[in-house]
Amino acid sequence: MNFISTRGGEKVNGAAQAIVKGLAEDGGLFVPESFPAVSREELEEMLPLSYPERAAKVLSKYLDDYDGAELLSALEAAYSKFEGDPAPLVRIDEGIYILELWHGPTCAFKDMALTVLPYLLRKGADICGIKENILILVATSGDTGKAALEGFKDAPGIKIMVFYPDDGVSKMQKLQMCTQDGSNVNVVAVKGNFDDCQTAVKRIFADKEQAKLLKEKNIILSSANSINFGRLAPQIAYYFSAYLDLVGGGQIEMGEEIDFSVPTGNFGNILAAYYAKRMGLPVRRLHCASNMNNILTDFFASGSYDTHREFFKTTSPSMDILISSNLERLLFEVCGRDAARTAELMGDLKQKGEYKVTPEEKAEIAKIFDGGFANEDEVVETVYDVFCDTGYTMDTHTGCAMKVAIDWFEKNKKDNTKMVVVSTANPYKFPQDVLYAVTGNDVKDSFKGIKRLHAATAMAVPKSLSGLKDKPVRFTECVKRDKLFEEVLAFVDKK
Ligand SMILES: *Cc1c(COP(=O)(O)O)cnc(C)c1O
Repeated sequence: MNFISTRGGEKVNGAAQAIVKGLAEDGGLFVPESFPAVSREELEEMLPLSYPERAAKVLSKYLDDYDGAELLSALEAAYSKFEGDPAPLVRIDEGIYILELWHGPTCAFKDMALTVLPYLLRKGADICGIKENILILVATSGDTGKAALEGFKDAPGIKIMVFYPDDGVSKMQKLQMCTQDGSNVNVVAVKGNFDDCQTAVKRIFADKEQAKLLKEKNIILSSANSINFGRLAPQIAYYFSAYLDLVGGGQIEMGEEIDFSVPTGNFGNILAAYYAKRMGLPVRRLHCASNMNNILTDFFASGSYDTHREFFKTTSPSMDILISSNLERLLFEVCGRDAARTAELMGDLKQKGEYKVTPEEKAEIAKIFDGGFANEDEVVETVYDVFCDTGYTMDTHTGCAMKVAIDWFEKNKKDNTKMVVVSTANPYKFPQDVLYAVTGNDVKDSFKGIKRLHAATAMAVPKSLSGLKDKPVRFTECVKRDKLFEEVLAFVDKK
């Protein structure tokens, strides 16, 4: 399958190239030349399959340059690192289900793709005949960094460097990253918020001089950020799997449409749902859930994407984002795959910090998407209400999506379409905030939070989190955002 840039300047033959390059040379994102279809018969055939088998069926539609049997064993190996079912569906109320995507090694949904990406990348480099070592650069708002480090640690021929905003990750997230083991990893804090951090990393990718310098050192750059198609592809699979679980469990008829409510930051997770729909999965609407950084809510309502606004630090830090990079892929679709138009919008974003879609483009988006958000009080109230009513404990990010789903049902009282709320983190990843929501208790220490949350909910504590307490901190560096490349060079030169 060919992949093309959303900005029209590049076309590559095969997913391997798109994955190894990460970002297109014109600054655009790689998208498949067309959406592969999954027929009703194929859906039926996928019903009895395991999660990795279902994922292999979906992924091989895009990755036709990878060997199918090898892909399946890579997926089986990746998801064997999960506790039990990688993507279980839990019914919590009439017509409302939760898709839990946090049973992987780092307890957040990023594991769904980042346990698979090292294979996709290493194999992709082989397919492309690349001999150089690969350096992965990641800008993270918290969860990606840890999941990428865990996925790539000690991978042969690959080094990984993670940058996180000094000012924008939870204590637990920071500890998870700074205690990371592995001989090929580095973690650096960047002064500022996530957007500062992401922009600084993007600048390295765009700099031809710096690329040349690295190439002389036998190194090429790649990204593990959610703009990489290798991140997007594994995420499409769990939308199929959730649907099949609903059919298999007799909750819906095959062919019946369902809705998803997705806690959204960089727009990668929900974009995968959109791709699933375009492939033929019976999805009706996608509810894009934000926290107080509700730029997407405003965009869906007004057609205007305006970054001139206050930035809030919230209890759902993985959604504290003002520039949702993957939205570019949706814009490309809704303007009729007009690359010049997409480039124009992205140019406006870069130069003016805002853009506006036409009424036609806005209407096209509204056919499938709507947006909503939860402020901080509403997150607390939602997490508490659901806990009281059903005994189910959810994290703060999932709380935002639940609030948006509940709002939808209140506005559309006769709506019988089943709603799947996508749950992106284990509650113990944000123990103090979830403890506060569930009990009103405020504790200063994360591990105390874990203990008390366990006392309040009796939910099992993942070992990967409780064990952090005794792990030594390896990474403490914090740099200004114009000093990232120096850090990269120092890491590369380190023996
Ligand atoms: C990354 C993340 C999100 C946001 O997902 P996007 O794909 O960036 O929209 C939401 N919740 C959690 C817990 C995350 O780690």
